[in-house]
Amino acid sequence: MPGERRAAPATATDQARLRLSGRLVPQLALVAAALALLAAALLDVDLPPVAGAALGGCLALTALQRSLAARVQARESARLRRSEAVHRALATAEGDVVLTLDGDLRIRQVTPAVPGLPGRPLTGCVPAEDAAEVRARLLGPQPAGARHTLRLLPDTGLPRVLETTVSDLRADPDVRALVVRGRDVTARDDRERELCALAYTDPLTGLPNRAAQERSVHEDLAAGTAGLSLLLVEVHGLRAVHEDAGRSVVDAALVEVARRLRATVRGTDEVSRVDAELFAVLASGTPTEVGRLAARCLAVLEAPIVTAAGLVDLCAVVGLAPLSPGLTAAQVQDHAELALAAARSAGTGSVHRHHPELTAVRDRRDQLRHDLVGARGRGELELAWLPVVDLTERRVAGVEALMRWRHPDLGDVPPEEFLPVAARAGLTVDLQRWVLQEATRAVVGLPQSGPALRLGVNVSAAHLAAGTLVADVTRALADSGLPPERLVVELAESALSGPRVRDDVSALRLMGVHVALDDVGRGASSLADLGRLPVDVLKLDRTLLARIDRDPYVRAVCAAVVTLGATLGVDVVAEGVETVGQLAVLHNLGCGFAQGFLLSRPVGLIALTGLLEADGGRLWPGVPAPRPAPADGTAPGPVALL
Ligand code: C2E
Ligand code: CA
Ligand code: CA
Repeated sequence: MPGERRAAPATATDQARLRLSGRLVPQLALVAAALALLAAALLDVDLPPVAGAALGGCLALTALQRSLAARVQARESARLRRSEAVHRALATAEGDVVLTLDGDLRIRQVTPAVPGLPGRPLTGCVPAEDAAEVRARLLGPQPAGARHTLRLLPDTGLPRVLETTVSDLRADPDVRALVVRGRDVTARDDRERELCALAYTDPLTGLPNRAAQERSVHEDLAAGTAGLSLLLVEVHGLRAVHEDAGRSVVDAALVEVARRLRATVRGTDEVSRVDAELFAVLASGTPTEVGRLAARCLAVLEAPIVTAAGLVDLCAVVGLAPLSPGLTAAQVQDHAELALAAARSAGTGSVHRHHPELTAVRDRRDQLRHDLVGARGRGELELAWLPVVDLTERRVAGVEALMRWRHPDLGDVPPEEFLPVAARAGLTVDLQRWVLQEATRAVVGLPQSGPALRLGVNVSAAHLAAGTLVADVTRALADSGLPPERLVVELAESALSGPRVRDDVSALRLMGVHVALDDVGRGASSLADLGRLPVDVLKLDRTLLARIDRDPYVRAVCAAVVTLGATLGVDVVAEGVETVGQLAVLHNLGCGFAQGFLLSRPVGLIALTGLLEADGGRLWPGVPAPRPAPADGTAPGPVALL
């Protein structure tokens, strides 16, 4: 109002005048008293004692007044400073909210105004789950600079999220309140919430993802929730769908898999997609119930899925592990993965539950992987020699070098166990080079009585894939001096696919090295395929030999391979001959060569030397043959005659 605005400066001027006169009057009194005393002294006038005392008193009173005025002034400026701080606290920047609360945390004032808040207890304006914490925090000590999130739920309008600092001014007589100053971070909080939801969701299926599943397992273990199991459901067949129909059909199938799994589990069970083809179910129930649930999951996934590209057939395997007390989330995950691996090896449609032996098997594999590094350097690797007998000459025509690992704690580890471990650890090439070097060097030093002995060396797919086979063979031949035509590189049929492998095989054959196809009859290859492969030797697998004298069909297959070999000019070697009956059938079929326990077990180098020296390498049942290779490589005596 104009009248009031005009009155304000007049009052201030009056106050200023009063302050000035209040300061000047004592000063003037003091100067007047001093001048009176000085004049009396100069004029040599004796002042009456009363006047002297009055002047002295006047001086003393003035000094007292000055000191009192200084103290009042100091108090006043302190008060001003404090009230400035309060004003500063209450002054809001854009986006800021200031609440003043009384001792009971009742909201006294909100700046800028938020309707519906003043007069209510603050703890009634926050989500119920936050109330206790908010109360404790506000009524407790207020560490300087501490910031906290406060979620406000006003009666009207949207919820707001504030990042707050608190000043406790309850003891200040001018304020007597807790001042909560908050920056409105609602938008930021919403964004964070959205990002968080994205981080825990599989975008394709909308299911929780691996991070969410791990968090759930972790929380359930921490809460000690009983009777829970983790099922890992691995979907098979998607790769074929991808090749036939493309990515979009795979995606559609995965969405349908997710829907079916969700529809199969109970409402409280959590389904998540934890990898491209892997789903998880965190399910509650007894072991029998969870087992039934696993079977149901398999069943619903086996039903054909209708897609834009037609019907899609999928199948699955399930590994399951209970959330036992004392386990960590990582251990439960690990157990479920081990169970899944066991289910995978058992074949499509299998369910495997984790049991401690699975962990023991994995631990052994881990130990082998760890110990295989440096096993060669520590002298733990050896070669065993398996004689190959010419069935016409009845004498040793060749030897197959077989790798042996004598583990200091675990004893002899079979190659079929440690070679896959070596492949996963990237040690294959190193081991193969050692075999090639050792074997070629040893064979060159063997006694020779008849035709030159051939050396068979097994080569794994991992060595072929590494692309160093030709160079490694060349080096071994050069270092040992073994003529290339005495070396037979044995390859499994599965290792022969791929254009570069064919080039390497051709290069070896051009060098004069022979190539043998190992384990013929173990896979599903046809005779027509066998005839087209670029090999010099066919080795009949021992699984065929095991039934050759009992099963006419197997005998017919072996006869066909022997005939094929004769037609193509390729040698045929029968592996795993264990009985005289098997040997007789092979002989009648016209098979050229054989190896197996009936003729000789794999032996050490000394035993092999003894065998070759005795009777010019003649080896036939009924003729003294070496015993199994002793660990120290000493020559064994004859075995029982057959
Ligand atoms: P393979 O090439 O088929 O070797 C023959 C396997 O059959 C050897 O097993 C041998 O001991 C076994 N055997 C020989 N005669 C008989 C018999 O009458 N009955 C039975 N039941 N078994 C017989 P081993 O030494 O355990 O080798 C297993 C496999 O490990 C080999 O099968 C070969 O695939 C692989 N392997 C061995 N040494 C090497 C190597 O230096 N490099 C590569 N890449 N693989 C190797
Ligand atoms: Ca072999
Ligand atoms: Ca074989």
